[in-house]
Amino acid sequence: MSRRRLVYEGKAKILYEGPEPGTLIQYFKDDATANNAEKHAVVDGKGVLNNRISEHVMNGLNGIGVPTHFIRRLNMREQLIRSCEMIPLEIVARNVAAGSLSKRLGIDEGETLPRPIIEFYYKDDALGDPMVAEEHITAFNWASQQDLDDLVALALRVNDFLSGMFMGVGIRLVDFKIEAGRIWDGDFQRLIVADEISPDSCRLWDMKSGEKLDKDVFRKDLGNLIDAYTEVARRLGIMPDASGNVVAGPKLVH
Ligand code: UDP
Repeated sequence: MSRRRLVYEGKAKILYEGPEPGTLIQYFKDDATANNAEKHAVVDGKGVLNNRISEHVMNGLNGIGVPTHFIRRLNMREQLIRSCEMIPLEIVARNVAAGSLSKRLGIDEGETLPRPIIEFYYKDDALGDPMVAEEHITAFNWASQQDLDDLVALALRVNDFLSGMFMGVGIRLVDFKIEAGRIWDGDFQRLIVADEISPDSCRLWDMKSGEKLDKDVFRKDLGNLIDAYTEVARRLGIMPDASGNVVAGPKLVH
């Protein structure tokens, strides 16, 4: 028996070599971190929920022609993905003021923004992922001006899709973070959505009660993280019930 090759281990996921060239296996861990890993806990079952929720979101994006790295889910904790050259940026889209935007600009949490706002953060744990301007990104060659235009367009499409998807199940999409990678089609490069999209990387508030259904539950000790993520999965119709059947969620109208 040969052992599969570990390619990268991050805070919440592990990447292994995939079965074919150009593929990787993405494994979802139960580790939860906040404040640049100052706060850490192992939350039983989080990886399973994020694997499912991210699968659901990425499938939806692929289905409307937004390219992602997702190929298929393999099992409870793993999915097969396309390997790509990661852009060292976190791309944040915001619809409602919260988190670091509220703190930085003194805007009350919960205030709807005049339009979606896209921000870039440089992925560097040692620096605490600082916010950067387009000038920094192009000057230091992290991405080109064309890439930036494509990333903004990609983030806005993801935002429209996710906002509608969550609104349909009574959840307000406050903000979220995506990461993107490059793939090559011959001489042409394309940017695709990579990493994960889950309650770890989104702010999700119940539309009626305002209850938080995302990682802020862990960051701010607001209750049980698994209950919150399970509720998101249940509303999206991706929670298997005790008999293993998936409880029906909203249906796409053709
Ligand atoms: N986010 C993330 N990973 C990070 C930083 C932020 O997934 O390393 C997400 C976060 O969950 C939220 C959005 O990006 O949905 C905006 O986060 P913000 O800048 O407000 O930072 P925070 O308040 O989380 O420090």
